[in-house]
Amino acid sequence: MDGLTVLCDISAALTHPAWPRYNPLRTQPNSYRHSWTGSPTMALLDGRRGLIFGIANDRSIAFHIGKAFLAEGAACGFPYLPGEKNERRVRKAFEDAGLADQWLVPCDASSDSDLDSLLKATRQRFDTIDFLIHSIAFADRTYLKPGKFAETPRDVFGQALDISAYSLVAMTQRAKQIMPKGGSIVAMTYYGSEKAVPGYNVMGVAKAALEASARYLAAELGEFGIRVNTISAGPIRTLSSMAVGGIDEIFDWVTRKAPLRRNIDAGEVGKAAIYLVSDLSSGMTGENIHVDAGYSIVGL
Ligand code: NAD
Repeated sequence: MDGLTVLCDISAALTHPAWPRYNPLRTQPNSYRHSWTGSPTMALLDGRRGLIFGIANDRSIAFHIGKAFLAEGAACGFPYLPGEKNERRVRKAFEDAGLADQWLVPCDASSDSDLDSLLKATRQRFDTIDFLIHSIAFADRTYLKPGKFAETPRDVFGQALDISAYSLVAMTQRAKQIMPKGGSIVAMTYYGSEKAVPGYNVMGVAKAALEASARYLAAELGEFGIRVNTISAGPIRTLSSMAVGGIDEIFDWVTRKAPLRRNIDAGEVGKAAIYLVSDLSSGMTGENIHVDAGYSIVGL
């Protein structure tokens, strides 16, 4: 930690309404002890409840966000793509991490009736929620290969946009009904929305729509205290990213060109998500934060 960061953290801590319980200098999740005084501290998401969409297995970005949120005191529900195999994989991921007995709910984000049932179940379980994480995407991998974008058929284009972008609007419509005191909505995106990344293709178009949707949602829902932001993550090895043709080349390229000279890991996305859901980001909405080792600032 450099001197300036320490000074900023100290000043944030001293001016926080919950001081001395709140302690951003705490490095051990759930230690609940102030590092200097030994008095109890609050975790960053204590008392917050919400939904995290998008766990397929223990590599999923959503899984790492979930682990980070649980460690910071949040109560979470985890909607997963319906299917026995999917459920088994999600359950196993939590069990292996020592976090058995999470609330898992089947929900196909392309189905309005599934989303309505989820809303009902969430109301019963939590009454109201404070956050929603959108960490899902889908496109037919046949067209996620360098040189294949121009061949994208209408139905493949429509499905990618529906599941990967419109789903944020559909989820937000429901979440708003159970966020009476406001809340934070965060969606995962990728640099292929801003620049043409060979192989990312129709998914890049879907991410551009997702980011624009997040801005329009932020503009409309701000008056209800609901913030909507996106995280643009650098490439991470997951089920979805492995479907993108040429992904290994992308990992190598980032290592050579990104200012930090490395790829990021999903835990770093989890930390950014904590920031966006906690009070630390209370003045931010409609933003797109890059967690990409700085890759997106480089011109050449
Ligand atoms: P992942 O495969 O682990 O997660 C994708 C999830 O989307 C899966 O859990 C899958 O079940 C879910 N999903 C797909 N269709 C669905 C539907 N109809 N209803 C409900 N869920 C559905 O991969 P990931 O990399 O963790 O992806 C999570 C998010 O992060 C995606 O939006 C992805 O585009 C984004 N992202 C990933 C990377 C990366 O390099 N891995 C980089 C930037 C952004």
